[in-house]
Amino acid sequence: MAGNDATLTPPPRGDNMVRGDDKLRGDDAARIAVLLPLGLNTAYDYLVPDGEIVPEGTFVRVPLGSREVTGVVWGAGDAEADGGVARGRLKEIIAVLPVPPLPESVRKLVDWVAEYTLAKRGAVLRMAMSVPAALEPAKMRVAFLSTGNEPERLTPARRRVLKLLADGLPQGATELAREAAVSTGVVKGLAESGALRQISLPAELAPETPDWRQPRATLSSDQSSAAAALRESVTDATFSVTLLDGVTGSGKTEVYFEAVAAALEAGRQVLVMLPEIALSTQWLERFRARFGSAPCIWHSELGQRARRETWRAVASGAARIVVGARSALWLPFAELGLIVVDEEHDSAFKQEDGVIYHARDMAVMRARLESCSLVLSSATPSLETLANVRAGRYQSLDLPDRHGGAQLPHIEVVDMRDEPPPRGAWISPPLRAALEDCFAAGQQAVLFLNRRGYAPLTLCRACGHRLQCPNCTAWLVAHRFSDTLNCHHCGYYQRPPEACPKCKVEGKLAACGPGVERVAEEAAALFPNARSEIVTSDTIAGPDEAAGFIGRIEKHEIDLLIGTQIIAKGHHFPLLTLVGVIDADLGLAGGDLRAAERTYQLLHQVAGRAGRAQLAGRVLLQTYMPEHPVMAALCSGEREAFLTREAEAREQHGQPPAGRLAAVILSGRHEASVADTARALARLARNSLPRDSGIDILGPAPAPLALLRGRYRYRLLIKCARAVLPQPWLRAWLDELDPPSRVTLRVDVDPYSFL
Ligand code: ADP
Ligand code: ZN
Repeated sequence: MAGNDATLTPPPRGDNMVRGDDKLRGDDAARIAVLLPLGLNTAYDYLVPDGEIVPEGTFVRVPLGSREVTGVVWGAGDAEADGGVARGRLKEIIAVLPVPPLPESVRKLVDWVAEYTLAKRGAVLRMAMSVPAALEPAKMRVAFLSTGNEPERLTPARRRVLKLLADGLPQGATELAREAAVSTGVVKGLAESGALRQISLPAELAPETPDWRQPRATLSSDQSSAAAALRESVTDATFSVTLLDGVTGSGKTEVYFEAVAAALEAGRQVLVMLPEIALSTQWLERFRARFGSAPCIWHSELGQRARRETWRAVASGAARIVVGARSALWLPFAELGLIVVDEEHDSAFKQEDGVIYHARDMAVMRARLESCSLVLSSATPSLETLANVRAGRYQSLDLPDRHGGAQLPHIEVVDMRDEPPPRGAWISPPLRAALEDCFAAGQQAVLFLNRRGYAPLTLCRACGHRLQCPNCTAWLVAHRFSDTLNCHHCGYYQRPPEACPKCKVEGKLAACGPGVERVAEEAAALFPNARSEIVTSDTIAGPDEAAGFIGRIEKHEIDLLIGTQIIAKGHHFPLLTLVGVIDADLGLAGGDLRAAERTYQLLHQVAGRAGRAQLAGRVLLQTYMPEHPVMAALCSGEREAFLTREAEAREQHGQPPAGRLAAVILSGRHEASVADTARALARLARNSLPRDSGIDILGPAPAPLALLRGRYRYRLLIKCARAVLPQPWLRAWLDELDPPSRVTLRVDVDPYSFL
């Protein structure tokens, strides 16, 4: 919710140019403040050597102790110097780096996010400086240009080279030799004879330029009116947020592509954020089909070279469009005109380690600082976003129907109490019959279970002992393919033992419950002729594997797909008509405040894979709670009633989006000192709050994940009314608390995970 909130107003927006009086002049060695990408809150002062002009945002090398560090000029230094370092002891900056300054909008975003999340400013800056190599001088390559002078000897090889350069544009030496089918010696010979001139060109190649003039699909009337509204919000060039709320398959992507085209046409850059960029091959193909070129891609698994080139191209404006994961929010766009957050409800946008922030919410702040338009797209918008629509802060555009007359799938429950699977099996008789029909008709099916591995628990039938991770409060998950027991929290694994580690009885360890591998085993026994494949984060390590399985489904080399939430995302497979959800209740167990909302979103999205084209889709939800509001809403298609109920329940309990939450997570290797510090913090907080503060302190209590990677964990929850901001209080408490150095405190404002 956070960034999208009117109560936390952004810092005033200056124009992007550094005004004359902002220039920090080196006359009598000006003092400048440089923020370093380290775990620090304050900027350090440095001196600028005489005569140099170093505007705000400039990347500079500075000395720090015995090291050299790259930082960003954040403003004028502290002229008064009281409390600061005395002028005589200040060091000079070492160098100004030859890259465009970090834009003002990004600097303000860094300040704002640090303020909002209570993260250290330097740690936030580090996200905007994640490619140190991009700040180094550009590497150069040798290129040649025609001088127009005739060489004294004109061989056929020489003629081919000159012909390639006849347009007057320079060409890289190696490409030139390759294209002319000559040795590089021929090119050098021409240069020596005076016919060519050698120059240097930047080593990186410019990204492809998307062409917004390409013909687009003919839009339906709902689609065109939504597209027109989005185009207008882009050409307005003012801050606005629009929710694009459309059922799965309604053409949301097609529609926001029109906003992308409008921004490109207006000469501005575009950022599209997707929750799982590695799985987005279909999206990339559609982009290419629409705009005739590939967008720049940004995510954490990108190679160093691609990161460097993309970062620089974004800063220089050469990159017109970037599609990326949440970290793309921190790229130094020079002229951003549109941000799209696709699947805005997806919790993958929440970063849970390092700086804890919600990229969707911070994208709202970035759009505001850029005075540009933001589009949030989803078939199942978050309650936070819907609350903002209701409050009039966001516009909303609806796409109520699937494109091209395709029908939404028929969703029904299988009551597992009435129609249970055979003992030790997980596929109920109705689901089995539906799969039979589906394969008989030559169509494709999905079995969805959001659990990796073979079985979530291994239990000793002799003594009841359960195999647990030595480092975490978590059962070890059996994986048959790798023949290991794995902890899904810390990465610990071991070979499955023969004997129970507790009672030493052999041969009594039993796998309990299903994971995708076990469902695959059962399906293979039931349907030996069906070609099946398991798709989880274990089997899909990157874009290549993802493209592989997507291609195999498209070519109908797979009949049955068994997978986790990875298969729920945006894919479009015309032959896929049946979705079976093995355990629809899974996400509701142990539920946090968003359990029902999230389960609804996830199951709706999985269901949305079925029957997206001409063939009708069918979805079976295996559940022990057929009357649960989530199942009822999915089967009846009555989303609004469900959401209204959810929103009312949150309102009643003061939960988000009606109220605000912030968590403090304390951890350390010594349980007693963690618990003591947590209690001290809670006491200090409670004592400092006036009676009518509107703030509740809940806890401290051991976290559900009480032990993680060998560290004990306690949680404290701060709950307050919407009108109250918890940050100033938290800051005051944390400043006052004097925690032992071996206890780590982390603040999670607007928490999504309560583990
Ligand atoms: P959503 O993002 O809402 O799930 P998509 O944009 O993926 O929907 O559209 C679903 C399918 O319908 C895609 O294959 C898309 O190419 C197609 N489609 C949507 N709108 C149109 C249109 N106006 N003309 C042609 N095809 C369309
Ligand atoms: Zn573990």
